[in-house]
Amino acid sequence: MTAQLTTAQIEIRDLHKAFGDLEVLKGIDMTVERGEVVCVIGPSGSGKSTLLRCVNLLEEPTSGTVVVAGSEVTDPDVDIDRVRRRIGMVFQSFNLFPHLTAMENLTIAQRRVLRRDKEEAARIARANLKRVGLSDKETAYPAQLSGGQQQRVAIARALSMDPELMLFDEPTSALDPELVGDVLAVMRSLAQEGMTMLVVTHEMSFAREVADRVVFMDGGVIVEEGPPASVVGAPEHERTRTFLARVL
Ligand code: ADP
Ligand code: MG
Repeated sequence: MTAQLTTAQIEIRDLHKAFGDLEVLKGIDMTVERGEVVCVIGPSGSGKSTLLRCVNLLEEPTSGTVVVAGSEVTDPDVDIDRVRRRIGMVFQSFNLFPHLTAMENLTIAQRRVLRRDKEEAARIARANLKRVGLSDKETAYPAQLSGGQQQRVAIARALSMDPELMLFDEPTSALDPELVGDVLAVMRSLAQEGMTMLVVTHEMSFAREVADRVVFMDGGVIVEEGPPASVVGAPEHERTRTFLARVL
């Protein structure tokens, strides 16, 4: 295991990722400090999901280094399961187990991965369902919940593993517009509690209000980054302006 190189929660240096001949990430440098909320924006196909997936090694980088919470995930000797346990990930599709209740979805990994006993796992699950406003849905199955509620269960499930940081990949993109607000409200309160968050999103109002920093990606590179008031409010680059004109 690599020694603590940095106080940052995520440190990415010269990250490249290719799928065959297709170079998707072309040298990404990015730092996310403890407690920081960084939003990644950019057009479809620009490499945002691939970047997030390289952080927890769902994709193996072609070259470069990624350090998460002091562990270099790109070190061939890293115990990646141990590092992944410290990272909560929430996807566009909620990925809940359809045959398990909300409660069971929250306790299964706690019991199997963290070896918590039944009572402790249930107590933590209840606390996290409460945190996302779904205390009354303990016994509901995913099919009995709205998309927004399912996504909040998915967030509560990630939180039940006590992550040190959270990755979100377009968590509201699959939701009906009227359900987006409840999910963003949960993410906003997490940010206020000091959670380190790397969020791919098209929700510009969320990026503006919640992000400490916004990163605009296009074609596998970071085109510009900075406080939301600059990147979203007064972008320097033409590519950023063109993108924002389409999504705002
Ligand atoms: P974004 O999330 O910004 O829309 P992605 O990271 O999903 O972009 O994809 C970037 C590019 O990489 C796209 O051209 C996509 O088709 C390609 N890509 C993503 N994953 C794979 C894969 N597993 N195999 C081959 N190509 C991929
Ligand atoms: Mg994507």
